[in-house]
Amino acid sequence: MKARVITDKSLTEEIIKACEVCFVGMVDEHGMPYTLPFNFGYADGILYLHSGPVGHKLNILRNNPNVCIVMSTAHQMYHQSELVACSYGMKYKSVMMRGKVEFLEDLEDKVLALSKVMQQYTKREDYRYSQPALKNVTVMRIVPTQTDCKYFGY
Ligand SMILES: Cc1cc2nc3c(=O)[nH]c(=O)nc-3n(C[C@H](O)[C@H](O)[C@H](O)COP(=O)(O)OP(=O)(O)OC[C@H]3O[C@@H](n4cnc5c(N)ncnc54)[C@H](O)[C@@H]3O)c2cc1C
Repeated sequence: MKARVITDKSLTEEIIKACEVCFVGMVDEHGMPYTLPFNFGYADGILYLHSGPVGHKLNILRNNPNVCIVMSTAHQMYHQSELVACSYGMKYKSVMMRGKVEFLEDLEDKVLALSKVMQQYTKREDYRYSQPALKNVTVMRIVPTQTDCKYFGY
């Protein structure tokens, strides 16, 4: 089976909508990689993340906003011969995005971003937000400079 790289935008968005978590790769001040799982929201080609107000990742991202983000779904083991280890593999659909993190400070921008995060998981976005919580939460967006999508086994 050969992996297929897909450029079709609607297929890419279909995969993103099916993913539960994304893994955000960053680079610290020593040039070392630091990767974390995040919940996310997505709309119109833009990825949204949120976080508490402090932590190692925020120190890294404020210093170096470059990120490479990957997510995958439709994981399915397969094999050609049950007792032959190298005939086993995993089907998947995955998306990779590269870009820079931007921190959102405007409260309306934060609400829009958080509503996309909520929509990813609950399929609705008409939620209310308290002002203190909104002020406290860190919200980020990534407008990808490159989005790649790969299918394997589908
Ligand atoms: C499914 C899932 C979804 C998540 N969604 C979000 C989200 O939307 N927003 C968010 O802010 N966080 C989310 N998290 C938690 C996130 O992955 C980080 O653990 C958290 O944000 C703290 O990161 P930090 O760099 O600020 O940690 P700090 O508290 O500053 O980290 C201290 C040290 O803890 C270790 N560490 C940090 N995170 C992890 C980890 N996940 N696993 C193992 N060791 C770790 C590292 O060695 C790090 O140097 C999610 C985690 C999971 C598993």
